[in-house]
Amino acid sequence: MSVCEKTDLNPYLYRIINIREHCTWVIDDKEKATVKAESYIRGGISRVLRQSELFEKPLDINPDVLVIGGGIAGMEAALSLSGEDRRVFLVEKTARLGGISLDLSGLLPGQGEVINKKIESIMEDRNIRLFLNTRVENVIGFLGNFEIELVSGEDAETTEIMTGAIVVATGCGLFEPGKSDRYSYSGSDEVYTSLSIEKMFSGDEGVKLRSGKQPSSVALIHCVGREEKNYCSGICCSYMMKLAGFFKNQSPDIQVTEFYRDLCLPQKDDQERFTAAEAAGVTLTRVSDVSIKGTDVSFERMDGEKNEQSFDMVVLAPALEPSADTEELADLLTVPMDESGFFQEVHKMTNPVGTSTDGVFIVGTAHGPKGVSDSMQFARASAGQILTRLIPGEKLIPEVKVTEILEAYCTGCGNCLEVCVYGAIYSDDSRGISVVNEAVCRGCGNCFGSCPSGALRTKHFTNIQLYREVDEALR
Ligand SMILES: Cc1cc2nc3c(=O)[nH]c(=O)nc-3n(C[C@H](O)[C@H](O)[C@H](O)COP(=O)(O)OP(=O)(O)OC[C@H]3O[C@@H](n4cnc5c(N)ncnc54)[C@H](O)[C@@H]3O)c2cc1C
Ligand code: SF4
Ligand code: SF4
Repeated sequence: MSVCEKTDLNPYLYRIINIREHCTWVIDDKEKATVKAESYIRGGISRVLRQSELFEKPLDINPDVLVIGGGIAGMEAALSLSGEDRRVFLVEKTARLGGISLDLSGLLPGQGEVINKKIESIMEDRNIRLFLNTRVENVIGFLGNFEIELVSGEDAETTEIMTGAIVVATGCGLFEPGKSDRYSYSGSDEVYTSLSIEKMFSGDEGVKLRSGKQPSSVALIHCVGREEKNYCSGICCSYMMKLAGFFKNQSPDIQVTEFYRDLCLPQKDDQERFTAAEAAGVTLTRVSDVSIKGTDVSFERMDGEKNEQSFDMVVLAPALEPSADTEELADLLTVPMDESGFFQEVHKMTNPVGTSTDGVFIVGTAHGPKGVSDSMQFARASAGQILTRLIPGEKLIPEVKVTEILEAYCTGCGNCLEVCVYGAIYSDDSRGISVVNEAVCRGCGNCFGSCPSGALRTKHFTNIQLYREVDEALR
């Protein structure tokens, strides 16, 4: 591009020919590689001669950001983004900030008292506008320019805001153990979920049986719902070790047994936790199968030996699953969901916080199961992308090689609307045709093959350009 600019040519009148990966690196015979390179170059020249000049259309942007969800991930995103020249609208559907983390009796050792400190910082930050008991009702727009409608409280008061980006931090739900008959979970006997035990530990009275007595034996069952969900939640083994420690602190003589199939302890400090649990006398029993009746645990060890053991109390670690709102929000924001039902990222490794809707980011457990530290890191990663792309006072240059619809050929059949994953095409009902929003289109060409009337044309990928390139390369 800069070569074109230096010679006063339009910067888009170029074509890159990859003779390194496509020729020299894959063909040992130098003669043959040269012949192939020459044909590629001929094809490229032929194509570039048919390219037309393209012009960038800089767009004004709004640097403000909407963060949906006031858990640790949403709070971290809001605090990382707020500043003198950037407001953050933090929207939480419940009456309090903190999400699941606020119900925990304590985080894993080494994670500190992070939640309450973040809540305090949010309250003190004058660039963050907090909306509690609020939901997002409507969203239209694209990176740099979103128009959003919020609905708050019982009287459904509406507020309209405009932002340049949206961070989704709506967290996750928990697998309902009652859905599987393996755990005989009704919520009324001495079988509890890990979250309800966390809540009891954070109260003044600690963990007690329904009779008011402290339990003298407890079974901690890992991986509840893992088979049904078909993925590992990655965090339960660590926090079950934490809970084992809390039980031992409460009553050192308590008999704690953890039933697990595979231990997932990926973090740096996890081995320390495992060793500490063993040293405290926690029994770790690896099983290939486990089921519960009342508080009797039937299990099969890895060598096939079957056994049964009775406990005063059973604690289940349910899988983290997509939150109840995921589908509705995915629809509202035009963001796809992955095969597990969480929001789908652009790329697992290179862009795990971005989505196919440019300007919409997913962080924390809305993206998939993870702990507090990773949730915060995702939040900071999304903030990094927004801070570098939405710079106050600067304009945004959208993709130039976009698709256009030739009005005269379009019958308004709507095929192209269905295939555009970026939601870049809309229907203009008054004219009976479809229209591409050039600010949203990425020029991916997906829609191109879907048009029965030949009305779609992706700039720099027109039929004539492609035919001429192939023709010349094969000559
Ligand atoms: C029993 C248990 C113990 C755990 N122990 C630990 C631990 O010791 N250490 C650790 O690192 N991790 C632990 N975790 C994991 C930790 O809870 C999560 O990593 C963390 O809560 C993720 O934060 P988040 O902000 O992504 O989601 P959440 O905490 O779930 O917050 C999401 C927020 O979004 C709000 N929301 C949802 N939908 C909407 C909507 N449509 N509009 C507006 N707001 C919405 C919710 O009300 C909530 O406030 C534990 C998890 C469980 C279940
Ligand atoms: S080229 Fe891709 S992004 Fe653009 S309208 Fe077609 S399908 Fe959508
Ligand atoms: S597929 Fe073609 S004819 Fe149908 S709406 Fe899209 S551009 Fe128009």
